[in-house]
Amino acid sequence: MTIITMMICQPQLSLPQIPTRGLDLPVIQCRPQKEKVVVIMGVTGTGKSRLSIDLAGCYPAEVINSDKMQVYEGLDIATNKITEDECTGVPHHLLGIVDPEKDFTAENFVATASLAMKSIVGRGKLPIIAGGSNSFIEALIDDRNYEFRSRYDVCLLWTDVAMPVLHRFVSDRVDRMVSAGLVEEVRKFYKPNSDYTKGIRRAIGVPEFDSYFRAEFSSSGDKKYRDKLLEQAINEIKINNCKLACRQLKKIQRLRNEKGWDIHRIDATACFQNSGEKSDELWSEMVAGPGLVIVNQFMLN
Ligand code: ATP
Repeated sequence: MTIITMMICQPQLSLPQIPTRGLDLPVIQCRPQKEKVVVIMGVTGTGKSRLSIDLAGCYPAEVINSDKMQVYEGLDIATNKITEDECTGVPHHLLGIVDPEKDFTAENFVATASLAMKSIVGRGKLPIIAGGSNSFIEALIDDRNYEFRSRYDVCLLWTDVAMPVLHRFVSDRVDRMVSAGLVEEVRKFYKPNSDYTKGIRRAIGVPEFDSYFRAEFSSSGDKKYRDKLLEQAINEIKINNCKLACRQLKKIQRLRNEKGWDIHRIDATACFQNSGEKSDELWSEMVAGPGLVIVNQFMLN
């Protein structure tokens, strides 16, 4: 097993006094060996989940979700949660476990993710944290007492895709979500006069439908009018996803350039410019392969 979870020695243990027959033995300072954690960052739609599963295929690992909307139960299509099939048996934590009406804060994330990391490491596995919520990752890694950094060595990976290419991809993804039942899924969550600043209702794909569902609910306007509202909502979702991607990119660049985080950038653009087998080939060659090389090196250090 590649993961070394044992402590080299435990300085907090009080050792029995061994007679040294007058020898003046040097005192060796031992520090517990740090555990390893991999974090996969990247803006929405760049393949973080896919890479986490690829890595988990090479190391015994479990994934901790760090997307602030995917932590909630429900709206699986709107929040683009990984499916059970896509998980391929790799255990996932913090995915769809929070009451959608409640707020889940960065502090809640730090506490829950820390417990999950401990239990994963306790099972002799590698924790892989994957998700787009950079405020969660920052709160976890740069906690006030630097507790995370004193316990864990972290390998930061970043799946990056050129923005114009990604904008097209996330817009097309919204169309695929609609075909997969996005409107029906969000309609079930609709309540007149909802508070869109709380819980899962903040997710892109929820507030945008308000005017459409309101018209449906109150039977106002004719079908043509409502179809127009639906079209507008879908367009807004596309625009908001593109805006989210731009904001998330700036946050990653800030962590890298201003905070000096050692983030390994992996360029996945070519995979998104191709489709089918060619895209899969490029993914193995340009994303999964290099990602694994970085993680292998990290695990050996
Ligand atoms: P912020 O401080 O702006 O909330 P963050 O780094 O904490 O940023 P992000 O993941 O960038 O978190 O999420 C920002 C917003 O983007 C969320 O509040 C939500 O509206 C939307 N969002 C994020 N992830 C998703 C998702 N999976 N599905 C739908 N909307 C999402």
